[in-house]
Amino acid sequence: MTELLDNVLAGRVCRGQGPGTTLVDPVHGTPLVRVDATGLDLAAGYAHARETGGAGLRALDPRQRGQMLAAIVSLLQSRREAYHEIARANSGTVRQDSALDIDGAIYTLSTYARLAAQLPDAPGQAWLPHTDALSLAKDGSFQTRHIASPVAGLALFINAFNFPAWGLWEKAAPALLAGVPVVLKPATATAWLAQRMVLDVIEAGLLPDGALSVVCGGSDGLLDALQPFDVLSFTGSAATAATLRGHPAITHRGVRINVEADSVNSALLMPGTTPDSPAFGLFVDELVREMTVKSGQKCTAIRRAFVPDHLRPVVAEAVQARLAAVSVGDPREAAVQMGALVNRRQFDDVTHGLERLRTATRTVFDGRRQALVGALDPRVACCMAPTLLAIDSPQAVEDSALVHDLEVFGPVATLLPYADLPQAVRQVRRGQGSLVVSLYGEDAPALARTAVELANHHGRVHVVSPESARSHTGHGNVMPQSLHGGPGRAGGGEELGGLQALAFYQRRTAIQAAPSVLAAL
Ligand code: NAP
Repeated sequence: MTELLDNVLAGRVCRGQGPGTTLVDPVHGTPLVRVDATGLDLAAGYAHARETGGAGLRALDPRQRGQMLAAIVSLLQSRREAYHEIARANSGTVRQDSALDIDGAIYTLSTYARLAAQLPDAPGQAWLPHTDALSLAKDGSFQTRHIASPVAGLALFINAFNFPAWGLWEKAAPALLAGVPVVLKPATATAWLAQRMVLDVIEAGLLPDGALSVVCGGSDGLLDALQPFDVLSFTGSAATAATLRGHPAITHRGVRINVEADSVNSALLMPGTTPDSPAFGLFVDELVREMTVKSGQKCTAIRRAFVPDHLRPVVAEAVQARLAAVSVGDPREAAVQMGALVNRRQFDDVTHGLERLRTATRTVFDGRRQALVGALDPRVACCMAPTLLAIDSPQAVEDSALVHDLEVFGPVATLLPYADLPQAVRQVRRGQGSLVVSLYGEDAPALARTAVELANHHGRVHVVSPESARSHTGHGNVMPQSLHGGPGRAGGGEELGGLQALAFYQRRTAIQAAPSVLAAL
C-alpha cells in the first residue's frame, strides 16, 4: 500500500479514516501516494482557523505579514528540487512546465512580499484605509470614511488540478497578507505537491497556528462547514462552479464566492500583417507555445486563433511545421518537450472533446499520427501530441457554435479565418467572456482601439507588437501585477492585480462619525 498523506487541520496533522484515493503517475501508471479526508472534524478545524489562525494573523501588521511571505519564499526555494520530483511523477510534466507552476508560485509570493512594503506602516493595526473622509454635514461636523479590515472568517480555496502550487500561493499570498486564515482543498489528482508545500511551511513554523490548513482527497462537507463571514475561492470547471453557487453556504449564509472557470480564449492576428512581418512570427510562436505548454492544460491557453482569411493556409503551414518538431512523451527522457495529460480521465475527456470538435472542423495537424518518445504503454500513458484544427471560411466560423463554446482542456486549438476586423471582434466575443485575448500587429492605434473594444469581454487583453517582442510576458502567463479572471462563462471572478487582490479578503466598512473620532481611528 502507498503512503497516506497527512492533512493539516486545527493546527495539527491528521489522517483520513478511509482507504483513500491513490494518486498515479500519468505516464507509467505507477501508484504514488494516497489522500483521504474521511471523518475529519471540519467544523472544529474551521473554528480553529477562524479564531486562533485569524487572531494570530491580525496580531501582525501588514508589513510583518509581508515578511512572513518572504520567509515562505526562501523555504520553497530551498525545497525546489523535491517539488520538481513530485510534479514530474504526479503531473507528468517536463521540467519547464513544472517550473511554470513551482517558480510561478514562488514569484507570485515574492511579488506580494514586496508589495507589502507599499501598505501603511502601522504596527499592530489590522485594518487599512480605503477612502479619505467625506463630509456628511454642511459644517463638516459629521463625516464618513471607509476602512478595509480582514474578513472575520476564513478563506476556503477549492483548486483545479493543473496548477497545484501556483493555484495555492496566488490565492494564499493576498489572503495571508490581508490577515485571513486559509483552508486549502487541492484537486485530488495532483494534491501531493500542494500538500507537501503546506506541510513544509507548517513544520518550519513560518505562520501563526491555524493560519494555513490543507484537506486532501475529498470535498464532502467542505461547504457545509462554512459560516457567514467566510469566503470561498473556487478554480475549476463551470459545472462544479454551478453546483457550488447553489449551496446554502452561498445562497443562505452569504459566503462571498470568487469563481475562476472555463474559458475559450482567443488570439487575433490583426489585419494588415504579412507572412514576413514580425507580428506574424510572434503569433505563430505564441500559438505553438500555448498548444504545447503543460500539454494545453492551462485555463488561459489559446483555443481559438483568428487570422485574416487570406493568411489561413500560410499560418496553418507555419504552425504545423513547428508542431511536427515537438517531441512528446515520457518527461524523464531528455529529448521530450511535452509530457502527459494529468490522468486517464483527463485523457479520455480531451479525446472525446476533440472528436466533438472534429465534427465542426477540418484537421490540419493530427497529433494521433505523431510517435511518442519513451517506453510507453499506450493503454496507460496519458501522453497526447498536439492537434491543430481549422474552419475554412469566415462564413463557416459565423455558422459554427461549437468552436466558440467547447473548451477542450488539452493540446488543441482551432484556426478561424475572418473577413474583416469587425467580424473578428464579433467572433472573439462569442466566447461569452474569457480570461484572455491576445492581439498581434504593428499598428499601435488599431491595436489600442481593438484592445478597448474587447476589454469588457475579457479579464486581460495581451497586446504583442514588435517593440515588446522580447519583453512581453506571454498570452497564457498570469502575472501577479495584472488582474486574472474573466467575465461571463469565465466565472466572473477577479484575482491578483497587485494589491487590489486583497479586496476579496477584506470587508469595507463606512465609519460615520465626528472628525475627531475619525482622526482617532
Ligand atoms: P473540477 O473538476 O471542476 O474540479 C475543481 C475542484 O473542485 C477540485 O478540487 C474538485 O475536487 C472540486 N470539486 C468537485 N466537485 C466538488 C463539489 N461538489 N464540492 C466541492 N468541491 C468540488 O475542475 P478540474 O478538472 O480540476 O480543472 C479543470 C477545469 O478548471 C478546466 O475547465 C479549466 O478551464 C478550469 N480552470 C480554470 C482556471 C481559471 O483560473 N479560470 C484555472 C485552472 C483551471 P476533486 O479533485 O476532489 O474532485
